[in-house]
Amino acid sequence: MAARGCTRCAELAATRTSVVFGAGNADAELMFVGEAPGANEDLQGLPFVGAAGKLLEQLLGEIGLSRSEVFIANVLKCRPPGNRDPQSGEIDNCRPYLIRQIELIEPRVICTLGNFATKLLRGDPAGITRVHGAPEVRTIGEHTVRVYPLFHPAAALYTPSTLETLREDFARLPAVLALPALPAPPRPPAETIPIVEVEPQTPQRPPAPGSDGGQLGLF
Ligand code: URA
Repeated sequence: MAARGCTRCAELAATRTSVVFGAGNADAELMFVGEAPGANEDLQGLPFVGAAGKLLEQLLGEIGLSRSEVFIANVLKCRPPGNRDPQSGEIDNCRPYLIRQIELIEPRVICTLGNFATKLLRGDPAGITRVHGAPEVRTIGEHTVRVYPLFHPAAALYTPSTLETLREDFARLPAVLALPALPAPPRPPAETIPIVEVEPQTPQRPPAPGSDGGQLGLF
């Protein structure tokens, strides 16, 4: 996917410094989805590197996790000018990138941070104040996952009661991660999956110990 040079949103493409695709462990069990890059993120090309990011790191630390163990992305990959709210057309344009990220990372749990990510990934207009702290199963693209809505850390920076609630919801995150694995969504019937013929190949280097000997001709 050509996200780096994306021009789907003319205004964002013209005003951004960088496309902030996401960062972290691509095999993570836990993924966070925020709203959109701010000024610091736009300059550094990384998500959650400002004050809200520091709080997110602190809350992760309180439950024994580090930033490098999770994957962090946003609803929008480009900064809206002046940090205005994402527009619905921009969210529509950017949605395929987020869905593909989720399909590739296959997290067990996605924490949606704030209203925009929560509404998008729950597929429902209910606001964060009503739905935070309650995990729900959703199928996003081809991946079934628990969505766990949380207040956005930026909101918690200025409102002590929001920070307290966010911290309580965070404290329950290890239990959400320990819930039983979810079944994969139903696959299409076998006859609709194209059969790709693979020509037998001569292995060009010896098989690694414990491998299947390269019988599938994959190297
Ligand atoms: N807020 C967000 O929603 N995302 C970031 O990357 C930074 C701040």
